[in-house]
Amino acid sequence: MATDVKKLIIIGSGPSGYTAALYAARANLSPVVYAGYQHGGQLTLTTDVENFPGFAEGIQGPELMSNMRAQAERFGAELRDRDVTAVDFSQRPFRVTTHVKPFSAEDDEVEWADAVIVATGASAMWLGIPGEEQYRGYGVSSCATCDGFFFRNKRMVVVGGGDVALEEAIFLSRFASELTVIHRRDTLRASKAMQQRALNNPKIRFIWDTVVEEALGEKHPQTGAARVTGVRVRNVKTGEESVIPTEALFVAIGHRPNTHIFHGQIPLDERGYAVAQDAEGTATAVEGVFVAGDVRDYRYRQAVTAAADGCKAAMDVEKWLEERGEADVDPTGEVYAGLMHEPATEPAVEPAAGLVGEAVTSQA
Ligand code: NAP
Repeated sequence: MATDVKKLIIIGSGPSGYTAALYAARANLSPVVYAGYQHGGQLTLTTDVENFPGFAEGIQGPELMSNMRAQAERFGAELRDRDVTAVDFSQRPFRVTTHVKPFSAEDDEVEWADAVIVATGASAMWLGIPGEEQYRGYGVSSCATCDGFFFRNKRMVVVGGGDVALEEAIFLSRFASELTVIHRRDTLRASKAMQQRALNNPKIRFIWDTVVEEALGEKHPQTGAARVTGVRVRNVKTGEESVIPTEALFVAIGHRPNTHIFHGQIPLDERGYAVAQDAEGTATAVEGVFVAGDVRDYRYRQAVTAAADGCKAAMDVEKWLEERGEADVDPTGEVYAGLMHEPATEPAVEPAAGLVGEAVTSQA
């Protein structure tokens, strides 16, 4: 059994994980980052990012993430492209089990740490229709705040009937030449106040009882770039099919926090989001476990807010270790020699009542 204990393990490699790694590395905490087999998080699925401060001309999402990674590595963060498959936070040091490849049990690695930052993010839910993946980043998006600006004075479609769909529709109606909300039922799920705002907005048109079956697109005749040209829809009551021309399709049917491996380990809310002890800080009810980014934030969900949260988490860890007199302990020292434990059979924290939460692919 390994006897060395890391000061800090960070799980996740989106803006929150990499920023936590940067700050922790610069604070001499020698963090180990489990970045995941497919590292880089949601921004690796986007193209232009124009709202991350510091890039006057914008930057490609994958490039932004590889820059963040390189910056954290420059200060000594150790990046491991492995998926975390299990954690045991029932006692310290915490136990983190990883695989190098998804679904492979051959390659288990166990690591131990005084502190853990959970920064595994959330994943947008997608419709799973033809064209959706092909045109993602070229007109298909799950983030109006991020991508709405690219389609100003163009036609836009929003799919969904919840608060987020209507919030995005209201936001996008400022830019769009035409804004259509397509909902699969004839009743909205959103709060009454949000419904009133959307229904009273003269720029928003609703199409009820309708599902989107395909995102249509083409290569731009001049530039060769892919672009969305419309959506093929079907009325679920009449079965009638039609095509709605649009340059952008915003899918707003919900997000799932990537918390399936943390059930029973840290408190999660009824939607499965990680819960910090207070809104400002990043500490959880499990001493030594901190949470940052979209895994605990369903409100802002921006790269810059996730990065800020990662910074806070690293600072919280540093302070916490310092208070315990461990911030300067040699990370490879045998501070816990002989104290290593087998994984607990009982959860450290009871899951919140009513907690369901499906297993999802871990993605920061
Ligand atoms: P949500 O409330 O779960 O709504 C998801 C919407 O997407 C529903 O209308 C659902 O249709 C639709 N949908 C789901 N799967 C679909 C599919 N495969 N095809 C077509 N449509 C599909 O999710 P959300 O809007 O992301 O909101 C998440 C949570 O944050 C909610 O609790 C919400 O109240 C909260 N929130 C609150 C505010 C606010 O109060 N200002 C703002 C944002 C978010 P059905 O209705 O038919 O199920």
